Amino acid sequence: MATFDYIVVGAGSAGAVVAGRLSEDPDVRVLLIEAGGAEKPTNVKIPAAFATQFRTNLDWNYGTEPEPHLNSRSIYHPRAKYLGGCSGMNAMMYIRGSRHDYDGWAKSGATGWSYDEVLPLFKKSECNSRGESEYHGAHGPLHVEDLRSPNPLSETLVEGMIATGMPRNDDFNGAEQIGVGLNQVTQKRGMRWTTADGFVTPARKRPNFTVLTGAHVHRLRIEDGRAVGVEATRAGRQDFYRADREVVVSAGAFNTPQILMLSGIGPADHLTQHGIRVVVDNPNVGSHMMDHPFYAANFETTARGTLAKAQSPVQLAKYFLTRRGLLTSNVGEAVAFFRTRPGEAAPDMQMFGAPVFFWDHGFATHDKPAYAIALSLVGSRSRGQVRLRSADPAEKPALTFNYFSDPAELDSMVAGIERAREVANSQPVRGLTTRELHPGGQATGRSEIEAEIRRNIATTYHPSCTARIGSESTGVVDARLRVHGVTGLRVADASVFPTIPHGNTHAPSVLVGEKAAEMIRAE
Ligand SMILES: Cc1cc2nc3c(=O)[nH]c(=O)nc-3n(C[C@H](O)[C@H](O)[C@H](O)COP(=O)(O)OP(=O)(O)OC[C@H]3O[C@@H](n4cnc5c(N)ncnc54)[C@H](O)[C@@H]3O)c2cc1C
Repeated sequence: MATFDYIVVGAGSAGAVVAGRLSEDPDVRVLLIEAGGAEKPTNVKIPAAFATQFRTNLDWNYGTEPEPHLNSRSIYHPRAKYLGGCSGMNAMMYIRGSRHDYDGWAKSGATGWSYDEVLPLFKKSECNSRGESEYHGAHGPLHVEDLRSPNPLSETLVEGMIATGMPRNDDFNGAEQIGVGLNQVTQKRGMRWTTADGFVTPARKRPNFTVLTGAHVHRLRIEDGRAVGVEATRAGRQDFYRADREVVVSAGAFNTPQILMLSGIGPADHLTQHGIRVVVDNPNVGSHMMDHPFYAANFETTARGTLAKAQSPVQLAKYFLTRRGLLTSNVGEAVAFFRTRPGEAAPDMQMFGAPVFFWDHGFATHDKPAYAIALSLVGSRSRGQVRLRSADPAEKPALTFNYFSDPAELDSMVAGIERAREVANSQPVRGLTTRELHPGGQATGRSEIEAEIRRNIATTYHPSCTARIGSESTGVVDARLRVHGVTGLRVADASVFPTIPHGNTHAPSVLVGEKAAEMIRAE
């Protein structure tokens, strides 16, 4: 049996940060346990290749239960399984969300999480190529930079979005989130930069830091109301790892509640049904799950240089020799934030302009050059849940999001798709657009667009809030991320968001990791 002070479960956007930061104190022994491997394959390194990881051995490969408002479809949810977690699979957009998200969290009881309180932590992580400023850090381990080779078509899409009445915005993480621009990405000199690169690799030379890969944590061991360690299988062997101080669960929004429930922390009737001894009866575990629904409108184009040619020998040579060219693209290069519902504090819609056809998570192809204008409903409201299928840790949990259970979401998505069409028909873009592929010319009226949404909506891959910050009756963890009812146990990942931020969720997950480490070290 190996003994540590802290054990962090899961080396993703948040867990890698928690473990790396805790190991900065030479007096504590830190173990980081990750179910996946340590390698960084080429399709993790090359930005434009992220979708080629889907449904491979790099992917946990989840799917939802039949979604009740989406024609009972199962929605595919990729999740990365290796050091760095989804920071190695995501589209690299560095977006923190709205100031109102964090102020809203603080107002709802998450003391210490207001925008003014979290901004210094965002800056602490960040090494922004634009340098230090009121909103940005330049000395942290997380590299953030402007796209090295922005696609001319993306620039045109930015012009098109502006032509529909939105202001230009060169920094979505600055004073104002609303507007249009090219996004900054988590890359270093054109190569993807993960939290493993930033927080784990440099820490590995510390003698007090141990990283265990290929180790699947099955459950926590809880003795007399205290988490004392974790049980994990590695290469077919089951082992126990003891934590003298704390266990931090950072296994992501699906696996974190699964591990808690397998350990007896969750809704009592559900646990009993699966023969699991109840340690803490808390119906909030796995509940309140949120995400951002996604739809990509696609248009055929006469523009040259779309990403369809990204894998040509010329582009491969350009990437490997100069780290420039089409392969440095994060695909969704152009971004807009706007409101479809007047009166919302934060913009409820994020639009992406991609210089390539994008459909069915990138699995579908099109034989002519095309571009996508995608919509991510960042003002989503629907709530779902993660539940166990059985007490077997190897069995995937059952996921339901209840996408579009709130009719207001449908109104926003319809408005978003109409806006995408406006962009395609705007003066700067019109001349490059030859045909609408999705939703397609037949989808003329509101009812056809609604039907198209139910048929084809997917996800922006942002599952969150399944172990949210709240009181003992409303949440799973307190504002210091301590699990209610058990000592020596915290959660730190996208599960703890009280509500999903109005934007992408990697930067907020890194923030959770920073804040968890800061609070633990302060105690
Ligand atoms: C395809 C895709 C595109 C995205 N695009 C963007 C984007 O452009 N910008 C953005 O901001 N966000 C994006 N996101 C979302 C963002 O990456 C995630 O919200 C964020 O990475 C979540 O971080 P996390 O720490 O909660 O979980 P993860 O990063 O998923 O980390 C969880 C880790 O725990 C490990 N683990 C799980 N279970 C166990 C277990 N039982 N034992 C041991 N280890 C375990 C996993 O293997 C993983 O490494 C995207 C996500 C995906 C999948």
